[in-house]
Formats: sequence, structure tokens, C-alpha cells
Amino acid sequence: MYLHGTSRINDKGHLEIGGCDVTDLAKEFGTPLYIVDEALVRQRAQEYVAAFRETGLRFQVAYASKAFCVMAMCRLAEEEGMSLDVVSDGELYTALQAGFPAERIHFHGNNKTPEEIEMALKANIGCFVVDNFVELQLLNAIAADHGKQVNILLRVTPGVEAHTHDYISTGQQDSKFGFDIGNGTAFEAVKTALGLPQLKLLGVHSHIGSQIFEVEGFRMAVEKVAAFSIEVRAKLEATFPVINLGGGFGIRYVEGDKPLPLGTYVKAITDAIIGEFTAADYPLPEIWVEPGRSIVGDAGTTLYTVGTSKDIPGVRKYVAVDGGMTDNPRPALYESKYEAVLANRAKETAEEVVSIAGKCCESGDMLIWDLNLPKVQSGDLLAVFCTGAYNYAMASNYNRIRRPAVVFVRDGQADLVVARESYDNIVGNDLIPARLRKQGVAN
Ligand SMILES: *Cc1c(COP(=O)(O)O)cnc(C)c1O
Repeated sequence: MYLHGTSRINDKGHLEIGGCDVTDLAKEFGTPLYIVDEALVRQRAQEYVAAFRETGLRFQVAYASKAFCVMAMCRLAEEEGMSLDVVSDGELYTALQAGFPAERIHFHGNNKTPEEIEMALKANIGCFVVDNFVELQLLNAIAADHGKQVNILLRVTPGVEAHTHDYISTGQQDSKFGFDIGNGTAFEAVKTALGLPQLKLLGVHSHIGSQIFEVEGFRMAVEKVAAFSIEVRAKLEATFPVINLGGGFGIRYVEGDKPLPLGTYVKAITDAIIGEFTAADYPLPEIWVEPGRSIVGDAGTTLYTVGTSKDIPGVRKYVAVDGGMTDNPRPALYESKYEAVLANRAKETAEEVVSIAGKCCESGDMLIWDLNLPKVQSGDLLAVFCTGAYNYAMASNYNRIRRPAVVFVRDGQADLVVARESYDNIVGNDLIPARLRKQGVAN
């Protein structure tokens, strides 16, 4: 059994995270429950910052908040000295409500609406990562209306395909994101941006994919971006003070996943930047990275209560839990794999192979296939590891299931950071037109 961060098995044979016995957490907060190991989140952030500090370069580590965006997480990100990426008005609102410093917020996305741009301009965020020509003109026009000049990066696709799942690979030419370097579009975008008076071009941004286990893709991206920067300097006499290499650093979900230490990714990127830019006598840019998954992924655990089971002799045994694709859509979306333990009987030896099903009306609602567990009983607690990234963030109300609570645990203390949704939350936005109202029923 592989335990992340502060997780351990206590004397009672129960899983403990952040000094909290998860069977107690289940009693106090109910299940399903997302549990976040605060110390591990902080440790991951500190690993990035420390690796950059060692280089002596100027840098920003921007937490890609889409991985897990709630106000308490924005507080942690600020406390750990990170900047913050947002990709929508909702994420921006969350960050601002949490008091996150606007000048350290970067706004991403391939279709920012005029309203979103206005909102971000009014908040005086630090940087827009501009994705396409329509946005360049739109941002310039709206900034002019507000009499402001705004910092921008241009998102480019360097033509690098990281070895990862198709849906989470973005650095190749055929992508909905960014300006392509290879076909000259990125160069045109720089020319356009330099001609727009309200935009201050800081540099370029590249994000090549997600859950990447090697440094070669990042090195190649740096080469492409450096060559591009050098071309821009030669032809347009503009130098970039900032280069952003995105996120995508991999984590260990299951045995066989071999992520590199976070510092190794940073070193590969900074070494490549120093090498390429120094060789061209180009002033060393400030380096930005945008880790999401690798900040919060392995710090998250989802706790479920086991309910029913169905044994099909000679085929398989299904064991159903009180959540599923509503709190973790990744297995259904990406065939993602997870490890899990019986959290209330974590010292017992495995006796059977079962497959963990969710409770949604969907055959695809499976969380784990073929998991070795002790003989599972109704009422047991199942802890699924590494659910900190893209789980709560992607949760839905399919089947009108209420989204679970989230707790931060640390040093034996558990703090609720998102309450479990109520039935009122479920129907809160519903309206019944007068002609459909039932007499004598309040609505
Ligand atoms: C999703 C995304 C990230 C974060 O990716 P992770 O794999 O979670 O590290 C960073 N930058 C951009 C532009 C993204 O779209």
C-alpha cells in the first residue's frame, strides 16, 4: 500500500491523514468526503519555490486553480507565495473573494467573454494570457474603454506532443488553444500585439499537456520558444521579459506511475532556458510555471461508505459506494486509474478482487476495476487516493446528487472548507412557472 504525505495506518488499523482518523471524519462530516492533506499541499508548493530559488532566476509559480479552486485553497496558495491562474469568471471571483492579490492573478482561456475581461480589468489582475486574434482586439478595445494598459502573454503552441492522453495534450499544432509557432501565426500575433496600444506584451506562454513524466517535452518546448523569442528580437526588435512554460507535471496515482521530483522538472526548464537564451546573448527572462495537479493531486483522498454489492459468479463482483462519477468523473472521462484501501480495516489482508461502482444511473460510472480488498462489507469505508486535483473541481449534480464536503486536515485538526450541498442547494435555482404550479404546494 502506497501512502502519500501524512497518511498512515494507526494502531486501530484505520487510515489516518493529517493526524485525523478518517473513521472519525466520516462520523463528523459524513461521506462521500474529500479530505485534503494541508501539509502535503504546502510541501509541494515549497518544493517548486525552493527549486526556483536555487537557480537565482526571477520566477513565479502560478497555481493552476482549475485543479481545485475553493477559497481556502486560494488562501493556501497565497500563503505559500504562489501566483494564481484562473480560466473563468467563477474562478476569478473565488480568488478575489478569498482576498488573493489581484496583481498575482493570471487569466487564461480560449474564449474569455467581454464580461469576464471587464471583471478582470476592474480587479487589476496581473496578466492576461491571450489565446487568439479575436481576443487581442477585444482586450485592446475593452482596455481602451477603461483607459488602462494591461500585461499580456501570448499563448503559443510549440508543436510538441507530450506523451499523455489525447484529451489532456495541448502542445501540438492541431489544438483549440493558442497561436501556432510552426505556421507563422504566433509571429503574426506578436506583430499585432505590439501594434495595439493598450497591450503590454510580456512574452509567451506554452503548456504542452498534463500528467507528464519526463522532461524531454519541456526541453523541446523551451527550445521552440527560445528560437521564437530570438526570431522576434531579430525581426521586430522586441524582447520578452517573461517566458511561461505552463504546467503538466505528473504525479503518482498508481503503481507504475513514475513522476520525477518536482525540482527535476524545474531544473530541466531553468537549465534549458539559461542555455538557450544565454547562447543567444538574450537577457534571461523571468520564468513562470503553472502546476495544478502536482500541487493538490496526491494531497486529496475521497472517503466513501460501501453500500451494496453484486457478485456475478465467474465474472466479477461489483461493490457500490455512495458517490461515483459525480464526485470523480476522471475514470469515465479519461479511463484514469486509482488506488484505494478499506480505511476502517486497513491492516487486514486482501481476500477478494472487486470492482468499485458509483451510484449513478450510468454503466460507465465505475471508479476502480479489479481492486484487491479484504472481504468487503456494507458500511465499510473506502478511501480512494490522489483525488485532490480535477475531482471536486469537476464534480457535478448528475442524478441530483449533492456535492460532497471538503475538509482540510492538519496536525489532528479537521476544518470544513466546503460544506456538503443541501437539498435546498439542489433546487435553489429551480423555478416553477405560475401555470405549472400545484395548488397548496409552496414554491
Ligand atoms: C490545465 C493547465 C495547467 C495545469 O495543468 P496540470 O496538469 O494540472 O499541472 C497549467 N496551465 C494551463 C494553461 C492549463 O490549461
